[in-house]
Amino acid sequence: HKITDKVRALSPGDSFHSLEFFPPKTDAGFHNLLARLERMSQALRPLFVTVTWGAGGSTASKSLHLAELCQKELELTTCLHLTCTNMSRAVLDEALEGAKATGIRNILALRGDPPRSDEYMPSGERSNGEEKEFEYAVDLVRYIREKYGDYFCIGVAAYPEGHAEGTAPEFQDPKRDLPYLIEKVKAGADFIMTQLFYDAQKYTAFEEMLRHDPSGVFKDIIIIPGLMPIQSYQILRRTTKLSHASLPPSVEQRLMDVKNDDDKVKTLGVDILCEIIHQIRRSLTSSPHARGFHFYTLNLEKAVSFVIEKSKLLRPITFTADNESAISDEIDDP
Ligand code: FAD
Repeated sequence: HKITDKVRALSPGDSFHSLEFFPPKTDAGFHNLLARLERMSQALRPLFVTVTWGAGGSTASKSLHLAELCQKELELTTCLHLTCTNMSRAVLDEALEGAKATGIRNILALRGDPPRSDEYMPSGERSNGEEKEFEYAVDLVRYIREKYGDYFCIGVAAYPEGHAEGTAPEFQDPKRDLPYLIEKVKAGADFIMTQLFYDAQKYTAFEEMLRHDPSGVFKDIIIIPGLMPIQSYQILRRTTKLSHASLPPSVEQRLMDVKNDDDKVKTLGVDILCEIIHQIRRSLTSSPHARGFHFYTLNLEKAVSFVIEKSKLLRPITFTADNESAISDEIDDP
C-alpha cells in the first residue's frame, strides 16, 4: 500500500502514527528486533513503518532485508529510506528494484550526509573530481519518478528549525531551505516527514508557513512531524546537538531536575512528548488530513508505546475481509 492512500482513507479528525527502525548489525540483533516488531505492530498498530538507510549505502543489504521482513513477513506497510549522495547508481537501482520486488511502495528520498573529506571542497568541486549525478535529494526524487512513474509513493525530509549545514545554529532558518523543499515537492514528492524537535511552537509555525506558502504546493500535502522519545538525558543532549533541535527552557529545566535518574527522565520524557502532541493537535486544527506522528524509535519499545497509548494515537481496528478471516481462524483454532 501507498502511505498517501492509507492516510487519505482516514478522516481529517483521525490520528495515526508511524515507527522508524534501523537494521541491527548482527543476526541475533535481527532476530530480537523481529520479535519486538511483531509485538509492537500488534499492540500499537502503526499506519506504516520505516527502515533507515546508512549514508553511502553502508547498510544497503541489511536495510533491504529488514524492509522485506517488515513488508512480507509482518505484512506492515513499509517505507524504505534511501540516500543518494555518494551512492553509485548501481546500488540505488538495486535498492529500488529490490524494494519493488518485495512489494514495497514507499520510499523516503534523502540526500544523506557526505563523508567528512568532502565537506571542505570548494563548491561544485568534488574530492574525486567527478560531476555527481545525485547531489541533492531532489535528484533522487526526479530519478525515481523518471524510472518508476507513479509506482512509488515518495516522501522527503524537512527541518522545522532549519537544516544545519555549514551554518551556525543561531543562523538556521527553515525559510532558507524553503525553495529546495518546494523543488522536491514539485519534482514529485507525495509527503513530507520532519526532523525531530522538542519545541512544539517551532513545529506549528513551520507547518503553518508551509500551508500558507504562496507557491501553493504544500496546501494539500501530507506533513508528518518526527518525534524522538526521550531515553536518557545523555542521549537527548547528543541528539539535540546533532540535529540542532532546541529545547524550550521550561522543558530543559524539568529535565535538569531529574537528569541523573534515568527512570525519572523516561517518565518525564513521556509527559513531554504527550504535551508536544497535544499542542500540535490543539494548534493545527485545520489540517487537511488525519494527523500523524512519526516516531524515531531507536529500535526501543517502551517509551514510544507509553506515548502512543497515553496520547490516544492508537487507530481503531477496522474489519476487512483479511482480518475477519484471521479472527475467525483464531476462534476456530483451539
Ligand atoms: P536535501 O533536501 O538535498 O537538502 C540538503 C541541504 O542542501 C539543505 O540544507 C538544503 O537547504 C540544501 N539544498 C537543497 N537543494 C539545494 C540546491 N539546489 N542548491 C543549494 N542548496 C540546496 N540520513 C541517512 O543517512 N539515512 C537515513 O535513513 C535518514 N533518514 C532520515 C529521515 C528523516 C525523516 C530526516 C528528516 C532525515 C533523515 N536522514 C537520514 C538525514 C538526512 O540524510 C540529512 O539530514 C541530510 O543532511 C539532508 O538530507 P535531505 O534529504 O534533507 O537533503
